[in-house]
Amino acid sequence: MNIIKGDKIKVLSGKDRGKTGKVTKAIPTEGKVVVEKVNVVKKHKKAKGGAPGERISLELPINVSNTQLICSKCKKPTRVGKKKVGGKMVRICKKCEAEI
Ligand SMILES: [Zn+2]
Repeated sequence: MNIIKGDKIKVLSGKDRGKTGKVTKAIPTEGKVVVEKVNVVKKHKKAKGGAPGERISLELPINVSNTQLICSKCKKPTRVGKKKVGGKMVRICKKCEAEI
């Protein structure tokens, strides 16, 4: 998985197609990411005891294959490449080849 927490991504399919947002959580074992304000569902929390019920918004994970990373340099959605720099693997933008 080439997307990590803190990345900015664009959603390619689903009801939030075209939206961009920041990855707040990456779940590599499931190949999913949670993205700010993307795939939001509203849930009702029932009133319990003396506390009133409330509506809460929850961001559900989306498949990483439905997202594309937005390069911080050229600001375009891009595929992610990998390059070895100083013995370390870094992610690069396939469009402008900047390190991500
Ligand atoms: Zn770029």
